[in-house]
Amino acid sequence: MGAGLKVAIIGSGPAGMYTAGALNTKCAGCEIDILDKLATPYGLIRTGVAPDHQTTKNVSRAYDKIMENGNVRFVGNVSFGDDISLETLQSLYDVVVFAIGTPKDRSLGIEGEDKNGVFGAQTFVYWYNGHPEFRDAVPHLEVENAIVIGNGNVALDVARVILSTEGEMQASDLVDHAGQHIFDSPLKSVRIVGRRGPEHAQFSTKELGELKDLETATVITDPELLPRNFTHEDAKTEKKVKNNLALLEAYSENAPSEDKRSLYLDFLLTPLEAVGDEQIRSLKLEVNRIENGNAVGTGEVIEVPCDLLVTCIGYELTNVGGLPVENGVVKNTDGRVSDGLYVVGWAKRGPSGTIGTNRIDSQNVVDLILEDHCGGPDPEKPGSAGLDKYCKENQIHTVSFEDWQKINQAEQDRAGDESPRKKFVRKRDMLTLLSED
Ligand SMILES: Cc1cc2nc3c(=O)[nH]c(=O)nc-3n(C[C@H](O)[C@H](O)[C@H](O)COP(=O)(O)OP(=O)(O)OC[C@H]3O[C@@H](n4cnc5c(N)ncnc54)[C@H](O)[C@@H]3O)c2cc1C
Repeated sequence: MGAGLKVAIIGSGPAGMYTAGALNTKCAGCEIDILDKLATPYGLIRTGVAPDHQTTKNVSRAYDKIMENGNVRFVGNVSFGDDISLETLQSLYDVVVFAIGTPKDRSLGIEGEDKNGVFGAQTFVYWYNGHPEFRDAVPHLEVENAIVIGNGNVALDVARVILSTEGEMQASDLVDHAGQHIFDSPLKSVRIVGRRGPEHAQFSTKELGELKDLETATVITDPELLPRNFTHEDAKTEKKVKNNLALLEAYSENAPSEDKRSLYLDFLLTPLEAVGDEQIRSLKLEVNRIENGNAVGTGEVIEVPCDLLVTCIGYELTNVGGLPVENGVVKNTDGRVSDGLYVVGWAKRGPSGTIGTNRIDSQNVVDLILEDHCGGPDPEKPGSAGLDKYCKENQIHTVSFEDWQKINQAEQDRAGDESPRKKFVRKRDMLTLLSED
């Protein structure tokens, strides 16, 4: 079906890669260009997944295999909306698929959120993962009391990474500029704060359990907040929550000590106001109770010292290049946006699920694409050759998959003994490396 289609996929994260993989399998002779604004492929696998979770990043080997197909090209360093417009893309390709993720942090919407020391998770995570646009996003970590808002795995990642030691990060690809600040930080306490109760937290048991291994921090939670005899209609959910509660039970037996830092898991609190001058100094929170599964404010307000606030409460897409955006995603019906235009991944359904969730989602959208374009390619559309001509005329220095492999190799060559890579954190350094070559 649709043999020989010329397709542009914008974004080389998991959703874009699974789309390319499914198209390559199902559409004979198709021509696939995967454009990305970065010079490096694979989206949040490089810039989101925690630097000490290298096994998770191994999925990129499967993406390499997709890139190595002769009819699939990586065209890095081309930013949709800046370097190339929707109109141009549609004049070049039969099908354009957006896989650009949800690159903006959702805001808490509280007073004082614009103070220094307040960061969204994506900004913070991009910083310690070496995303070139966020190299200087966090100026220092001269802080003693951090609060991380959110009860998902990203909140656990942030807390674990800022509490880690140089030894604990030796086998990671944490970037140097972040490592220097993290290892020298006078940080004494980190609080992970959730609006609802421990039984509602989205933490995976594996990530929650990892916290007990932190060398310099004790994990503490309030035993009073742990529900007894938890049950759930869904057996899988019940098992997961019970496993989490067992870990929290163990953490609730810990107490703060002089020789270790404290990592508190706090529940039933809603942030109200970031207090301070230009810099956040404390956070006001309202104590909640649960009514019919929802957090309801009790009116009781507490104020907690805080000189670093990281909000891990989700992400959204905002207007880019004239795409129709609604509720933080590209407006679509099952991935269809308009004639010849599709969306996949987080840009389609919002920031939820694991890396694998994007696979099924992309496969379903590819089925729709092939159904809509069963007549095959439009002979007027030049595809890859047209993109090359456009980039040349507009002096866009594209980065190919072979170029990325050179960057990849150079990063591995300059890494320490245990670390998998020492990332380049400026695009210009990557381009210089390629031009020297
Ligand atoms: C901090 C964090 C940690 C995570 N850790 C895990 C984990 O450990 N395990 C797990 O299963 N899931 C994890 N996830 C979820 C997982 O990363 C997502 O499910 C997945 O990355 C979504 O894929 P995507 O392709 O839709 O978006 P992304 O991965 O965000 O990819 C989007 C791509 O589009 C490119 N792009 C954006 N705008 C443009 C533009 N204008 N022009 C050209 N290109 C553009 C970006 O550079 C990027 O390469 C994590 C998510 C976050 C935020």
